Amino acid sequence: MQSSKRDYYEVLGVPRNATQEEIKKAYRRLARKYHPDFNKDPDAQEKFKEINEAYQVLSDPEKRKLYDQYGHSAFQTASGGEYSQQAWGDLFETIEDLFRGFGFEEVFERRGRRRSQRRPIKGEDIYYTVELTLEEAYSGKVVSLSVVRDVPCPACEGLGYDKDKGERTCPTCGGRGSIYQRQFFISISQTCPTCGGEGVIREPCGRCGGKGTVPEREEVKVRMPPGVDNGSRVLVEGKGHAGLYGGPPGDLYLLVKVLPHRLFERRGDNLYLDINLKLTEAVMGTELEVPTLSGEKIKVKVPAGVKEGDTVRVEGKGMPRLRGGGFGDLFLRVHIDIPKLGFWEKHFGDGKKVKQLLEELDKLLPEPTRLRARQP
Ligand SMILES: [Zn+2]
Ligand SMILES: [Zn+2]
Repeated sequence: MQSSKRDYYEVLGVPRNATQEEIKKAYRRLARKYHPDFNKDPDAQEKFKEINEAYQVLSDPEKRKLYDQYGHSAFQTASGGEYSQQAWGDLFETIEDLFRGFGFEEVFERRGRRRSQRRPIKGEDIYYTVELTLEEAYSGKVVSLSVVRDVPCPACEGLGYDKDKGERTCPTCGGRGSIYQRQFFISISQTCPTCGGEGVIREPCGRCGGKGTVPEREEVKVRMPPGVDNGSRVLVEGKGHAGLYGGPPGDLYLLVKVLPHRLFERRGDNLYLDINLKLTEAVMGTELEVPTLSGEKIKVKVPAGVKEGDTVRVEGKGMPRLRGGGFGDLFLRVHIDIPKLGFWEKHFGDGKKVKQLLEELDKLLPEPTRLRARQP
């Protein structure tokens, strides 16, 4: 069995007097090449295992010394030279540390281990308030917005650092991405504040200062659908800020504010319009011409005998429905203009005649029941 095992130095392709740094470098290069998550070659897994085994021994000065002296037999176990589960567990910790900051974090993500700083992150959403008149909400409108968005920096392609200037190991955490704080008897692991958990320090991009994005003004045209209401949110996908680490951009939300109208009151899809009737119109009924939000004027029959506060419904002349199509209704809210005789006499001349006619009418009208029973 021993004879089939390759020499650890040979496996890593380093001389027997290689420094720790050289061993680490060689291991990184090979581990990345043969990692089973990236190399689908059927032999890759075996190779990867072999590389890790070699590295675990050669990276540890104690084990390396034993290996140099006794060869593979220094580590043979009773079961025949295989690594135990425990050893593999430790090994993955080491691998994780080594891969940190190389864009391989998703491997550890899948293993359910530590979370990395460089997972793709969706960009932030942008919110804008759009004011519309009720007429604009009725007919719909294309609004033009000048939106300032963070877009990927063209100089560094969104990386935030200069690719050509390379990187160096973070001096604070020594490349681990985390630091330990000792408090009495316990150590607490924290994300390294210097490198943000990446383990390496890079030259920040001169254009974006390391952010990876630059602000850019963009004209965005958005169609407001007919019937849009106060508080509606109109979503424009992908027009938010740029994502980080390859994440998708955020979205643009337009918050709609519909301004109050001089005449119409909106309640959901229905509209209310207050109208004044003459006393005689209320008694005898009439036909009125009323405005609508579409701009056309319509004729509405008011039935005889309406009272103050009654409503007259006009079907389909309300707001367009956002969902399901069609229109809400228009309601005319009836108010009755009661003549003030003294005022009339002064300003409209023929008040005397009106008063005389009303007195005659008063004699002709039947006495009402004075006390009105309450409506349940
Ligand atoms: Zn660090
Ligand atoms: Zn940049």
